[in-house]
Amino acid sequence: MAYFITDACVSCGACEPECPVSCISPGDDVYVIDAEVCIECGACANVCPVDAPQPK
Ligand code: SF4
Ligand code: SF4
Repeated sequence: MAYFITDACVSCGACEPECPVSCISPGDDVYVIDAEVCIECGACANVCPVDAPQPK
């Protein structure tokens, strides 16, 4: 289990500094979450304006 970022992401970058384990980074189209590192805290989802991070 981990969060993942859907295609709804507009690459605003708001989530990146909020992640306590720094597992979010800019991808080619949308931001991406390293599922091996994500601790499912939900902080990214709380700040995302378009609700792109979703629990998988
Ligand atoms: Fe980082 Fe938490 Fe989002 Fe996982 S759920 S990517 S640990 S902010
Ligand atoms: Fe994408 Fe949401 Fe993160 Fe902004 S806060 S980069 S829209 S996932």
